[in-house]
Amino acid sequence: MHYDPLSSSIEYVKGVGPKRAELLKKEVHITSFNDLMMYYPFRYADRSKIFTIKEISPSMPYVQLKGRIVAMQELGHKRSTRLVALLEDATGTVELVWFKGLKWIREKLAVGKIFIVYGKPSLFSGKINIPHPELETPESYEQLLGTTLQPFYSTTEKLRNIGLDSKGIAKIMRNLLASIKGNIPETLPSWLIKRYNIPRREEAIMNIHFPQDEQQLGLARKRLKFEELFYVQLGLLLAKHDRYKKSKGHIFSTVGDRFHHFYSQNLPFALTDAQKRVIKEIRSDLGKGTQMNRLLQGDVGSGKTLVALLTMLIANDNNFQVALMVPTEILASQHYKTIVALLNNIPVETRLLTGSTKAAKRKSLLQELEQGDINILIGTHALIEESVIFKNLGLVIIDEQHRFGVAQRAKMWGKSSVPPHILVMTATPIPRTLAMTLYGDLDVSVIDEMPPGRKPVKTFHLTDSKRLRLFAFMREQIALGRQIYVVYPLIEESEKLELKDLMDGYESLSRAFPLPDYAISIVHGRMKAEQKAYEMQRFIKNETQIMVSTTVIEVGVDIPNASVMVIENAERFGLSQLHQLRGRVGRGADQAYCVLMSGDKITHEGRKRLSIMVQSNNGFDIAEEDLAIRGPGDLQGTQQSGLLEFRIADIVRDEKIMVFARGIAEEIVQFDPELKDDKNVVIKRQMDELKKSRHEWIRIS
Ligand code: ADP
Ligand code: MG
Repeated sequence: MHYDPLSSSIEYVKGVGPKRAELLKKEVHITSFNDLMMYYPFRYADRSKIFTIKEISPSMPYVQLKGRIVAMQELGHKRSTRLVALLEDATGTVELVWFKGLKWIREKLAVGKIFIVYGKPSLFSGKINIPHPELETPESYEQLLGTTLQPFYSTTEKLRNIGLDSKGIAKIMRNLLASIKGNIPETLPSWLIKRYNIPRREEAIMNIHFPQDEQQLGLARKRLKFEELFYVQLGLLLAKHDRYKKSKGHIFSTVGDRFHHFYSQNLPFALTDAQKRVIKEIRSDLGKGTQMNRLLQGDVGSGKTLVALLTMLIANDNNFQVALMVPTEILASQHYKTIVALLNNIPVETRLLTGSTKAAKRKSLLQELEQGDINILIGTHALIEESVIFKNLGLVIIDEQHRFGVAQRAKMWGKSSVPPHILVMTATPIPRTLAMTLYGDLDVSVIDEMPPGRKPVKTFHLTDSKRLRLFAFMREQIALGRQIYVVYPLIEESEKLELKDLMDGYESLSRAFPLPDYAISIVHGRMKAEQKAYEMQRFIKNETQIMVSTTVIEVGVDIPNASVMVIENAERFGLSQLHQLRGRVGRGADQAYCVLMSGDKITHEGRKRLSIMVQSNNGFDIAEEDLAIRGPGDLQGTQQSGLLEFRIADIVRDEKIMVFARGIAEEIVQFDPELKDDKNVVIKRQMDELKKSRHEWIRIS
């Protein structure tokens, strides 16, 4: 084993020592030379530009001034003293203010001395001041100019107390870099570096900390971002390759009677080209002899259910059982009914299993299942339970997969000795960069076309004071024979307060739409399953005109006559969720509407988000906007993934670099999937390194 200087303890960097090492470890998880080396600055200050005091305004981010201290004063009482100093240059004066660390400032500052001051101008009682500026004497400033771009490192209160503020970190960073110079290993192969003229790693590391100029910094950043994205993509693609190689899968060699019968006689309408293409992709997977692992993405209403059913029939034709798992009971029973109706006279034994299936029925159902008498089992999380045993499970389909946790999904795969084929479906449109990472090891099919004849939903934003207008509009629509959803945000089904919102809303609607002219259904998560089903049925049968509900109807529900969706407190939903809800309407031939209700006072950002909904009907555009506004951490279904934690790359802004990195990773997997080639030893070594340090790459399936 060769000695790797970068794995040395941080303690041995000049200027660190045991005490600082301890705190660096505790506060920012830096333990080795390597950790510190990769602790990149979050910002840089251009210290070459000096403003005059007259020029500055509170809207400026950071400014640098040069002047003389002409007055100093301590104000306030014992506990809340502050130190104010007046800085003067040829154009005027400005106040510098400190609330903390006064002792140190007192020692450093003196009336008459000249300082170079760096900080953020802010407005205080109508006057500009600069709180907690950095101070340099003309001598120390000279030294700073060695780098025009001064790095800023994030730090903590405790680190600051032992001298490791940003400047202190920069100091030990300099010491570290001086000691490891010449020993920073290259992590990209030389052919790649040459082909694309990529800066070497050592150069990039030096320049990310202490760049000479913007151009150098830009190149260093790009190189380090590329490296980070490249290894994530390569890891995902190698995992996928591995799966192909290793995993045996059932071969569904025939497309038999049931499929043909259904296709030629039971299809209620012609498939869209996108649906046909996806079925072809799936059929090819099923015949290969390796396990299918496919994600089906398609906007709400694009017709994923039918694709699922056709896939299930292929499995049945090959004498395999199928499980279809969905996140809610409402959706499970809807799918069950739709599928039974579509199958009509085709001999496919289909059953429904949910948490509220009665014990006796459940018992006989489980028996039938184990004997192989059931062909399709549709249900909720109830399918995961150990008592649910299949005779020969060949295919698992998961609808609205983002609603399930990774562990829940994985349990389904365990229900067959040979892993079943897997199709996960989602309507959550995920921007390309994110999909590439989150679903990087899956095959992806996309339904990018809506069934013909759909009119785009018209969306409006109304504030609470326009409620009477909303009611008038609802009456109009009901008079035309339409039905209406009114949805309240109940993110956590257990939150009492919000349930109150829903009940209040229900009452005021009951007054505005009284019996016997109108009837209203209500559904929420606290109701018993039978009660929910009863209320749903009344709405489905058009016995009620309005359905008041929480987001339990968010996914999957398909009632074509319901053509108006009213969303209360719309500003409290994420954009993707609003889009899902809106997808409940516009499924029939009638013009559909979505009304977003919000408070009269709404933040600028809230208004902007709702206006995106008003303007766009395209799930992908909306997801892009959502990502840009909220960042990837908040996107539905992405929370649990460690894949989105990058040191330097930014999944929103660095799409170009990511696409480029993925392209190269694809090339490598195609020509040297074992990483055996001499020219790829560096890659092999780095992959092994990463495997050690990174927690298991989380798979979506
Ligand atoms: P989602 O993709 O959101 O699950 P669904 O499968 O629920 O969408 O389909 C939405 C609606 O579109 C359903 O009423 C379904 O019957 C209808 N549909 C599906 N495919 C077609 C098609 N090719 N032509 C016309 N209507 C279709
Ligand atoms: Mg669906």
